[in-house]
Order: sequence, then structure tokens, then C-alpha cells
Amino acid sequence: MSPSLADAHIHLADLLDRDPGFPERLSGTGWICCASSHDEPEWERVEALRSRLPPFVSSFGIHPQWPVWKNADFLARLAGEGRLAAIGEAGFDFFADRPERVRDEANERTQREVFEFQLELALSRGLPLLLHLRKAMDLAFAYAPRLRRLPSAIFHSFPGSARDAETLVAKGINAFFSFGAPLLNGNKRAAAACAAVPSDRLLAETDAPWQPPRRSTHVAADYCRAEDLRPIVEGIAALRGIDLDEAGNTVRRNFIRAFSASE
Ligand SMILES: [Zn+2]
Repeated sequence: MSPSLADAHIHLADLLDRDPGFPERLSGTGWICCASSHDEPEWERVEALRSRLPPFVSSFGIHPQWPVWKNADFLARLAGEGRLAAIGEAGFDFFADRPERVRDEANERTQREVFEFQLELALSRGLPLLLHLRKAMDLAFAYAPRLRRLPSAIFHSFPGSARDAETLVAKGINAFFSFGAPLLNGNKRAAAACAAVPSDRLLAETDAPWQPPRRSTHVAADYCRAEDLRPIVEGIAALRGIDLDEAGNTVRRNFIRAFSASE
């Protein structure tokens, strides 16, 4: 992998289950990431990987696909101990592929309560928020007055249009827009947004092992690999008409700013 790539969103424990050798392949590459966890055992497994990987930052959140309170105290403790670069992924999922993701009054109330707890925690601790939104862009606009008080709001796998991105920035949010495998899978909305967002707000992610890119020339795999970050950044470079080095350096510089991480 190119020495300068930064992955804004990855699930290291879930990736390890599918690809046990991935940490060794990344050592010495200069790779950096924000590793997301959603419960305590997962957090511990990710922490245990620190000895096998280049330095990385972590986020912890109550995922909108699993909006339960059992990890809320643990999340608050991690935030209080200064161990998080961001809270999340947090947000809303009304994709309607499961009953709890249908946008009805009860589901929206549950997801709002869990989201607001995390938003308030991020505000009180001065932490970035990593957002997961599916079929819920209107709620990003609705929460804009509070999102704009965050150090940054990182929209993982940004689901909106170029116009939505522009509106979020115009509302005063220090927004970063992260793009992944949808760029390689023919998602026209993601491609148009990725081509249009300001270069200082652009991030790349794998979401590995989720969101596998469709492969024509690679060996088939039913999961996304850490190394798929490179074709994703190549896709960003092509969409924006810049070379791979420039795209990689832009994304890495933005990663450092978005997560207030150090080199
Ligand atoms: Zn994810």
C-alpha cells in the first residue's frame, strides 16, 4: 500500500475475524486509521491489536443499527479518560431492511435518544462525532445547530448529494465527508459528491470488513480488506482529476485535522 494512506473508518476486530493476517501486512506502511468499536469486548480486541499495527486512533459509539444503552457508561468512561479521537459511529439508520430500521415514530424516538446522548457527550468532552446516516439526511440538517458546535462532524460513507454537503458546510458545521467502496461500485450520488466537496473536507475509508468493493480483476472476497483503501483513493483521484499521491496526501492531511490526530 502507498505509504501515506489514512482510513477514516474501519472495524478492526470484525476484519481480524475474516483476515487474521492483515496487521502484519500493514506494518511499516505508514498506514493510519480510526478504528470504530461498539461494545466493550470489541474495544478490548481492538486495543490488543496495538502491538501489531502502526499507531491508530479509536472511536467508540452506540450504533444506530443497535441502539441500546448497555454500552453508554463504558462510552462515557472512555470519553472521560481521553481515549477517544471521536464518538461514533452514531446517527440514524432508516434503510428499512429490518423492522427496527423502518422510520416510524417509535424507532425514530429510540434512535434520537441514543444519538442525542452521544451528541451531548461529544459536545461536553469537545470530541468529534463520526456519523452514520442512512435515509436520514434531513436529521443532519435538523441537528445542525448542535453539530456546528462540535470540533468536527465526520460523515462516514457520506450518503448525501453534493448539494447536501454544501448545505452542511454553509450551516457552519466543520464537516468532513468520507467516501469508500460505493465509489468503486457505481454509486453515482457518492461519485458526484466526492468530485464536488472542497478538498480540505475530503476523507477516504474502507469500512472494512463491510462494504466490499466489487472486484473484476482482484481475487474474489466477500469482505472489504484494509488494502482496498488504495483503489478507493485511486477512485477519488480519478473523480477529482488529480494524481494518486495528491489524493493520498489530501486525505491524510484531512484525517489529522478531522480527528485532531498527530502524525
Ligand atoms: Zn462502519
